[in-house]
Amino acid sequence: MTGRRAAADTVRAAVLVAPRRLVVRDLPRPATAPDTGLVRVEACGLCGTDHEQFTGELFGGRACIPGHEAVGIVEEIGAVAARRLGVREGDRVVVEVFQSCRTCPACRSGDARRCERHGLADMYGFRPLDDPPGLWGGYATHLVLAPDACVLQVPSGLDPATATLCNPLGAGLRWAVRVPEAVGARLDGAVVVVLGPGVRGLAALVGTRRAGAGFVAVTGVGPRDAHRLALASRLGADLVIDVTGTDPVRAVRDATGGGADVVVDVTAKAPGALAQAVALARPGGTVVLAGTRGDDAVPGFHPDHVVVKELRIVGALGVDATDYAEALAMLAEGRSGYETIPHTTAGLDEAAGLLARMAGDAAVPAVAGSGGDTDVPVHGVIVP
Ligand SMILES: [Zn+2]
Ligand SMILES: [Zn+2]
Repeated sequence: MTGRRAAADTVRAAVLVAPRRLVVRDLPRPATAPDTGLVRVEACGLCGTDHEQFTGELFGGRACIPGHEAVGIVEEIGAVAARRLGVREGDRVVVEVFQSCRTCPACRSGDARRCERHGLADMYGFRPLDDPPGLWGGYATHLVLAPDACVLQVPSGLDPATATLCNPLGAGLRWAVRVPEAVGARLDGAVVVVLGPGVRGLAALVGTRRAGAGFVAVTGVGPRDAHRLALASRLGADLVIDVTGTDPVRAVRDATGGGADVVVDVTAKAPGALAQAVALARPGGTVVLAGTRGDDAVPGFHPDHVVVKELRIVGALGVDATDYAEALAMLAEGRSGYETIPHTTAGLDEAAGLLARMAGDAAVPAVAGSGGDTDVPVHGVIVP
C-alpha cells in the first residue's frame, strides 16, 4: 500500500477522446474528502460493452476514462466513506458499475440500476472526464470512490485479474439461474441450451451445472468460436454445437430425446438467435434473453411458436451485488473451473490494440500476454 505522503500528485489514465482514439494522459490526483476515496486499480476486465464504447457504437460524445469492471486496492478513504462502505485502506475491492443513493425506492429494493439519482446516467466507465474529479473509469492507475459508490470486498487469496471474472460470472449466475428460477423454471435435472460461448455464455454453463442441470449444450458460430466451444467442453458442457454446420434443434433432440427446458440466449449481434431459442425450447419451456441485442431485427421469429408452445420469454439486463458476491465466492472456492478461463492482459498503452482485437478487427497484431495466438481473446484485462 502506498502511503498518502508518498503518493505522486498525478495519476495515469487512458482517455477515450473519440471513437478508436484512446490517449494515455497524466491527470491531477484528486484530494480525498471524508465521503470519498481513491482506489489504486490493479485490473479492469473488458466486456462487449467496452468494445462497443471503443468503436463508437456506445460513445457518449464526451471524453471519458472507460472501464467499468475495476478491481483494486483502497489507497485512501475518508472516514464517512470507510464507515458507509465497510472498507479500510489496503482492502482489495471490486467497484460496482452503478452508484446507489441507498435511499430511493429502487435502491432500497436492491435495484441500483434504476436509482432515481444515478441509474444508467453516471455509470463508472462512462461518466465524462470533465465531470469532476474525472477519474470515473478503470483504464487508469486510480479511480475515485464517489459518495454513492458501491464496492465489494475481494476474498483473500483471489488475484485481481481473476477477480475481474466476477462480472461475467455474476451475469451468468443471474441470467441462467436466478432469472429463470424467478419465473418458475426448475434447473435441477433440466436440459439447458446456452446460445453463445463467450465469457457470459461459459458463466451460464457453469452456473446451470452448479444448479443441478442434467444436460447443458453450448452453441457457437464458425471458426471464431472454436476455441471457446473447446473451453465449454472443458468446463463441463455435455454437447457443443457449431451452428454453421449443425442444426442445433436436431442435435439437442438426438442427444436428449426432446427440447430444452431452459434456453439462455447471451448472443450479441446475432438477430437469428431468438428464433433459434424458440425452436430449441420444449413446450412449456423458458427462454431467457440476456443482454441487449443492439438490433430490432428478429429473422425467422414467429410469435405463434411462442403461443403454441406456451413458452415463457424473459429479459435479463444486468447484475446486482448478490450475484457479484456469489461469483467472487465461487472464484475463490475454485471448484467450477471458471477461474481457469485464460485472460489476455494489456497495459494502458496497449489497451487500444487489445480492444480492437476483441472487437474483431482484422490485421491487428497480438498484444503482450496473448501468447501469440490469433484467436479473439476470451477475456481481456487492462492492467494499468
Ligand atoms: Zn462489462
Ligand atoms: Zn437510489
